[in-house]
Amino acid sequence: MKFNKVLDNCKIYEAGKPIELVVREYGVDTKDIIKLASNENPYGTSPKVIEKIKELSKNMFMYPDDSMYELKEALATKYSVESQNIIVGAGSDQILDFLIKAKCDENSKILMAKTTFAMYEIYGRQTGCTILKTEDAMHNLEQFEQMYNEHKPDMVFLCLPNNPLGECLDREDVYNFLAKVDKETLVVVDCAYMEYASYKDAKKAIEPADLIEKFPNAVYLGTFSKAYALGGMRTGYGIGQVNLIKTLYKIRPPFNITTLSLAAAIEALKDEEFVNECIKLNFDEMKRYEEYAKRKEFSYIDSYTNFITMKFDNKYISSDVAQKLLERGVIVRDLTSYGVNAIRITIGTQKQNTRVFNILDEVLALLDKQENL
Ligand SMILES: *Cc1c(COP(=O)(O)O)cnc(C)c1O
Repeated sequence: MKFNKVLDNCKIYEAGKPIELVVREYGVDTKDIIKLASNENPYGTSPKVIEKIKELSKNMFMYPDDSMYELKEALATKYSVESQNIIVGAGSDQILDFLIKAKCDENSKILMAKTTFAMYEIYGRQTGCTILKTEDAMHNLEQFEQMYNEHKPDMVFLCLPNNPLGECLDREDVYNFLAKVDKETLVVVDCAYMEYASYKDAKKAIEPADLIEKFPNAVYLGTFSKAYALGGMRTGYGIGQVNLIKTLYKIRPPFNITTLSLAAAIEALKDEEFVNECIKLNFDEMKRYEEYAKRKEFSYIDSYTNFITMKFDNKYISSDVAQKLLERGVIVRDLTSYGVNAIRITIGTQKQNTRVFNILDEVLALLDKQENL
């Protein structure tokens, strides 16, 4: 059967491997598996949110409040914007999909960093548009500017901080770049990890109200999947000028998040203390990864997120390391398909990380031995 020809160029998104797969394929006991592949919050969901979900599970027979009044009010208060500036999606992923559909067709061009969140390209290809990437893997604004001037893309994607590498541009530099971009160009500022970045360094912090006021052609994306520990609830949001948000509503399917997702997000916003505690622990634990990498003499990218990307240069092949870790129950993300010889590890809990270092010691020793044979 023939399908829409734009799909010939589309890749299927490769998600982090689930725990069930490791149990099935490598016979590792479920309790011994450490999943550090999808940047989930390793401390689990806030107990207050879990309580609320239990209480509301009796309402599952009903459609959710399609206006999402309460959640949008809570987000509007948090970010000092109006409800009409907000759209909620099944993950910020869904907002990305809406944005690209709203702006692009097969004649459009979109610009992004060479190594960045895979869904920009995947959704882009679904419209048949042209994908432009900078030469550098990490965000390089000089290259963005040069390519912007040369190709005049319809959309630009900035991932701040960037997944899967972990680097983050300074707000001031981002603003200087945005000031040079034509108002007809839609700029997506994907801030899935902004809670982490702004904690680590105030120079990285971008406030959605300030962003969209200064740059009406920009849209801010946030998610409950990372710092707010609700990956399984699929809830994210976009913040932009009213006209843009209204346009996105033309694409939004009805009831696009569930009753329980709505309730969980509303409750999670009330427990900022939990989020702050998780973020603090994240950076305490990240130091241990940095020290580990130094000890083993491989490089890592200074990270503003809840993961760290370790580069193996010529020392190891990242897919070998990832595979050997997987066989021992540690799930990480190999970045070979992103064009870098590196693995991305979500920062786990103290106990998980200690085990990761022990298993990594074992894996690297094994690879050293194979090398010497
Ligand atoms: C995780 C992530 C998202 C989206 O996550 P959702 O679960 O769909 O909200 C978006 N952008 C980046 C860079 C991410 O890492």
